[in-house]
Amino acid sequence: MMSSTPFFHVEGLEKRFGGFRAVAGTSFKIEDGSITALIGPNGAGKTTVFNLISAFLTLDSGLIEFRGSRVDGRRPHQVSRLGIGRTFQTTRVLRKLSVLDNVCVAAQNQPGERLRGAMFRPRYQRSEADVNRRALELLDLVGLSAMAREYAATLSGGQRKLLEFARVMMQEPSLVLLDEPTAGVLPTLGQTLIEHVKTQRRDRGTTFMIIEHNMDVVMSVSDRVIVMNEGMVIADGTPGEIQVNEMVIEAYLGTHHAPAGPAREPVPSGPDDD
Ligand code: ADP
Ligand code: MG
Repeated sequence: MMSSTPFFHVEGLEKRFGGFRAVAGTSFKIEDGSITALIGPNGAGKTTVFNLISAFLTLDSGLIEFRGSRVDGRRPHQVSRLGIGRTFQTTRVLRKLSVLDNVCVAAQNQPGERLRGAMFRPRYQRSEADVNRRALELLDLVGLSAMAREYAATLSGGQRKLLEFARVMMQEPSLVLLDEPTAGVLPTLGQTLIEHVKTQRRDRGTTFMIIEHNMDVVMSVSDRVIVMNEGMVIADGTPGEIQVNEMVIEAYLGTHHAPAGPAREPVPSGPDDD
């Protein structure tokens, strides 16, 4: 096999909480412009993997590399500036800002831009008006434009998920990590969100990694599925391969008739807190 720099890869990721190995030697590669679903039962370590990639948690061992640069050892805002964006299973919208401002502020957190600093200073040639226009487009896309002037605190859980999606897309990341983006979201809006993921990949080549419980969504959106169980990758293949993989069926699909909703998620501290 030719050796070339992978777009993104993690090798031997380990994370312990006390004596418990939440992530126990996880390795995978992500191809540029692909959509990968990360699935597995509650507690498998999926969110912890996202927390490690985005530097909300420090890894115990292993490495994370994005376009040939080490990601591990950096701070969350540095990872974000490299072009890796994420959303949270438990949403972290800025409750005291309007829905629109939540999206506009996210524009500052982009490659080449300081996370904090002049919040409304336009970046590059982007004027405040451009930022506003783009933010409104994204809100329209997720069905939240009528709520643009409301405090984000007034949104339902599902609406906050959609707002988080708009916020992360505002940052124009090249790799987007979505943690259960459709959980608690009305099916029609969830479908719109998934359509936008596909459009964004097609038109801009954006790469996505999506933690998702809805198998219909997984099968329809992803080129590839990575399955985790007990902190380890137990399968990695096309949606078709995963559907018939015995280990996956046993660990996950067969026992996973009705997800109990978003799992209890210990929330690490980070710069997005309001
Ligand atoms: P998933 O997203 O696959 O449902 P998580 O990555 O959230 O799973 O959690 C994996 C395991 O690690 C769970 O048993 C969870 O309780 C534990 N865990 C996750 N984060 C922490 C934390 N900050 N402190 C202690 N335990 C944690
Ligand atoms: Mg999770």
